[in-house]
Amino acid sequence: MFSNKDLGRFEQLETPFYYYDLALLQNTLAACASAAKVYNFHVHYAMKANFNQRVLEKIKATGFGADCVSGGEVNKAIELGFDKNQVVFAGVGKSDKEIKDALDHDIFCFNVESIQELGVINDLAAHKGKKAKVAIRINPNVDAHTHHNITTGLDENKFGINSWDLTDCAEMLKQCDHLEFIGIHFHIGSQITNLDVYKNLCVRVNEFATWFEDRGFMIKVLNVGGGLGIDYHHPDQQIPDFTAYFNIFHEFLQVRPNQEVHFELGRALVGQCSSLISSVLYVKNGKKKNFIILDAGMTELMRPALYQAYHKIDNISKDSVYNTDFVDKDVKYDVVGPICESTDCFGKEVELQKTHRGDLIAIRSTGAYGEVMASRYNLREAVNVVFSEGQ
Ligand SMILES: *Cc1c(COP(=O)(O)O)cnc(C)c1O
Repeated sequence: MFSNKDLGRFEQLETPFYYYDLALLQNTLAACASAAKVYNFHVHYAMKANFNQRVLEKIKATGFGADCVSGGEVNKAIELGFDKNQVVFAGVGKSDKEIKDALDHDIFCFNVESIQELGVINDLAAHKGKKAKVAIRINPNVDAHTHHNITTGLDENKFGINSWDLTDCAEMLKQCDHLEFIGIHFHIGSQITNLDVYKNLCVRVNEFATWFEDRGFMIKVLNVGGGLGIDYHHPDQQIPDFTAYFNIFHEFLQVRPNQEVHFELGRALVGQCSSLISSVLYVKNGKKKNFIILDAGMTELMRPALYQAYHKIDNISKDSVYNTDFVDKDVKYDVVGPICESTDCFGKEVELQKTHRGDLIAIRSTGAYGEVMASRYNLREAVNVVFSEGQ
């Protein structure tokens, strides 16, 4: 929800812009940290969800580690002062340069996604006279029951090492003198709202941990990844139920003494703390369709075009009914952007009050995979960012 003060401020600003509610971010981080602490779970923030500097600083201050998926993210985490012992590097296609840089930074762990990659990291570490800590990312073939474009843990996905390759993988680990095997890693998808999915994951993790132990490997770290979803339909119910989420792992994961459990949350931490604020440029009323054309498009927020993601859309103009009890939602609009692509559409048949040129529109829950996916396509200007005051 936006206060009248926020709305007054928005009217003075040039649109479009990402608005960050830093107090909400702070509260979300605190809720996650305290829920994790109950079981001594470790949280690494998945930087790709949002690498805005102010956001990252808050996350670092909370004491979370950084889960990186590129050399750029590893470098950024180190540069911002994240503890190198809390920096992990995942990704299906790490380049030699990225691996070398991460070795120079002595990061906590590489989450390795293929047998070939084990060999490459071993060689590069040998060259530097170092030992690289590695965890094996295993594809557990667990269905995340989420959108197929953001599912990562099924046999047909490119991520991780498949179970039928684990024997070869174990062989390889034994041969690699410059690798220290510390654990197993999983990440089965994103925007997971059915917590039963995580029960299934726990069962698989237990099986794989036992498999490695039976072959004489010590598993220090069980990294269960991230993927916890947020409620895009109710952006004002803001903070995800981290307690329920961690409870599942506490209940279903078999954790040996001295074993650490690691999480890599992205969306759940940052998703609700931002909205994309945009102005209505034009309203086109047609026979079959009414269109609202915004000054923000897929160049600012790509998720709807990329994977038909839903974002709640509100007309928040000061003279609108947004802040009153009376909501006269009588018109259905397709809410679209100005980009020359038909997929540049934020929502179809969106019920809104009668909308006019100049009205302010908020596209909600854009803190995760929003600003960071913005592009300059059509030679658009880089998107502006505005922060709540007093943080
Ligand atoms: C993207 C990603 C995450 C975070 O996913 P969310 O859905 O934002 O929680 C965690 N781990 C890995 C390896 C990832 O690629």
